[in-house]
Amino acid sequence: MPIDQVAYDALKRYCDERGVQLIAVSKTKPNEDIMVLYELGHRDFGENYVQELVKKQEELPKDIRWHFIGHLQSNKIKYIAPFVSLIHGVDSAKLLQAIDKEARKANRQISCLLQVHIAQEETKFGFDLDELRKTAAELFLEKKYSHVSLKGLMGMASFTSDETIIAAEFQGLKSIFDEIKSTYKSEAEGFNTLSMGMSSDYKIAVEYGSTMIRVGSILFGAREYKVDS
Ligand SMILES: *Cc1c(COP(=O)(O)O)cnc(C)c1O
Repeated sequence: MPIDQVAYDALKRYCDERGVQLIAVSKTKPNEDIMVLYELGHRDFGENYVQELVKKQEELPKDIRWHFIGHLQSNKIKYIAPFVSLIHGVDSAKLLQAIDKEARKANRQISCLLQVHIAQEETKFGFDLDELRKTAAELFLEKKYSHVSLKGLMGMASFTSDETIIAAEFQGLKSIFDEIKSTYKSEAEGFNTLSMGMSSDYKIAVEYGSTMIRVGSILFGAREYKVDS
C-alpha cells in the first residue's frame, strides 16, 4: 500500500499544534515507504526488530533518528548502541544495566525511556510502580547508570475498545511521570518525554499528556502480522 500523504500531513499538523512529537513506526515496511516520509521532511522513525533496524540504518540516510520501540534483548543491544537515538521500551533494571555497559563501549550516552506496565494484560512488558521508583532513585540520586540519559517514560494501554480503560491507564502513567519529575526536579531536567499513544489511541494519549506518539498503520497502512519476539 502506498503511503498516505494526506494522513501524514494531517497528523503532523495535529502534533505540531499540540507540541507533540510524531514517531513514524516503520517496522516491517520497506525503505521506499520510509523515503516517502523522509522526502516530506520526516526524520523520526520507530522500529521493533534489531536486525531490521540495523539493515535500514545502514541503507538509509544518516540523519534519520531511529527509535527502538520493541522489546530489546540484552545480547542485541550492541548492534544498535552506536547509533540509536532513543530506546523506548526499557523494561527492567537488568536491561538498563546492559544498555549502560554497551553505551560505555560505544563511547556515548544512550537516551532511554522506562516502560511502565499500565495495561491489564499480563503479556505487556514493563516496570511496576515500586520497581520504577527504585530505578529512578538509582538513576537520579545514586547516578548508577552513567552512560544512560533517562528522558522519560513509555507505556502501552490495554488492547480494548473501551476508551475509559485506556484513558485511566494513560492518566495513571502521566501521574507517575509527574511524580518522578517533581521528586527529582533539577536532577530530572532532561526527563520530559512521555511516549504514549499509537494509531488507535493517540488522541486519548495526547489528551492525558503524551508528548510523543508512535504511529504506524495510519501512515504506512496495515502490517502483515508479526509476533513480537
Ligand atoms: C507497532 C507499534 C506501534 C505502532 O502501532 P500502530 O497501531 O500501527 O500505530 C507503536 N508502539 C509500539 C510499541 C509498537 O510495537
